[in-house]
Amino acid sequence: MVALLHELFPWALAFFVLNSFALVGARRRLLVSWNGEPHRLERRSLAAPGLWPACEAIAPFEPRLWLTATGLIVPRGGGLAPPDADELVEIPWARLADARAEGSRVKSDAGEVLRAPTPEAAAALAARVRGWARAASGAERMADLEAWLRDRLRVDLVRERRRRQRERLGPLRLSSTIAFASGFVALPASLYLPEQPGALALGAFAVALLAALAAAVLAARMLAAVGLERASIRRALEPLLFYPPLAAHAPSFAARHLYADFAPLAVVAALAGPDDVRRVAAEEWLEIEEGLAGTDPARLGDYWRVRREALTAWLRSVGLGEGDALLTRERQDPLAVVYCPACGAEYRRALGRCGDCDVALRGWGPATESAPVR
Ligand SMILES: [Zn+2]
Repeated sequence: MVALLHELFPWALAFFVLNSFALVGARRRLLVSWNGEPHRLERRSLAAPGLWPACEAIAPFEPRLWLTATGLIVPRGGGLAPPDADELVEIPWARLADARAEGSRVKSDAGEVLRAPTPEAAAALAARVRGWARAASGAERMADLEAWLRDRLRVDLVRERRRRQRERLGPLRLSSTIAFASGFVALPASLYLPEQPGALALGAFAVALLAALAAAVLAARMLAAVGLERASIRRALEPLLFYPPLAAHAPSFAARHLYADFAPLAVVAALAGPDDVRRVAAEEWLEIEEGLAGTDPARLGDYWRVRREALTAWLRSVGLGEGDALLTRERQDPLAVVYCPACGAEYRRALGRCGDCDVALRGWGPATESAPVR
């Protein structure tokens, strides 16, 4: 038994590390709380919050879709990541009337339409697409789009879901930490330090298994408390059955699907600090402005206007004022001449676009101090 553990441990470790990264692999906005600290927005496409047992990672879901009078524009192949313009296809409404979820994909007779992070999110999205396809008029479709956007921006619903989740989070953090300490610290120490007896290895292994079991039970109760159906909970926790070391990052693993019904902005507003909220809101406002300015108004004008309406109402409701106000900033560096309206980075040279966000920089005018003489 001890010899077997000795053989298996490096594999268990390799899969554990791999899974910690895979959690955030898709290029989606990710909120991370490192060991109980306040959530903050991760901007890197790859992070490893699953490596630390009490960390929590939440990835809200934003389906990439654009509505026109004649059809739905989606990324080719339904992808989750923000697509390039040449990867977009328009599917006529007539071919979407039978949209349905198959696993976590939305399909119609035109093939794969969209991809969602969970089967539940895919089912909700398929129902929405069917509704749009069968709408009696373009005005009805746009009214439904606006209702959908407003629902996805409901911060109070995110907070409620969060409150129900949080009650179970403390015990879950504890059990995942015990699973981590016994399985990934005590067990290898006893296996690889030659003077240690085998009984210690077996003891650590038993504690790790018990902690993993406790984490599975707590995770199931947490998902039930936020209203997930029994079948969804089983599907969400199935990987634990086949690979128990996942329990060592249970808070990230169990919660990753919980916020797929909400827009990133609502989740960020409920969980993160005001700087992150402002940044995501500014990014969305810029995306809408660029959409309004850059796309054919006859084709996508209504779509962008509805998005601006929904966002404007939301900004007012959370006290952020008008969209344009989001994009103006006080100069921090007296030598700066331009700034990025999305991330707030300041530049001393008048560059065209922000290196991080790829949005057009805005100017303050000349620097308020002269540059130091070199
Ligand atoms: Zn920027």
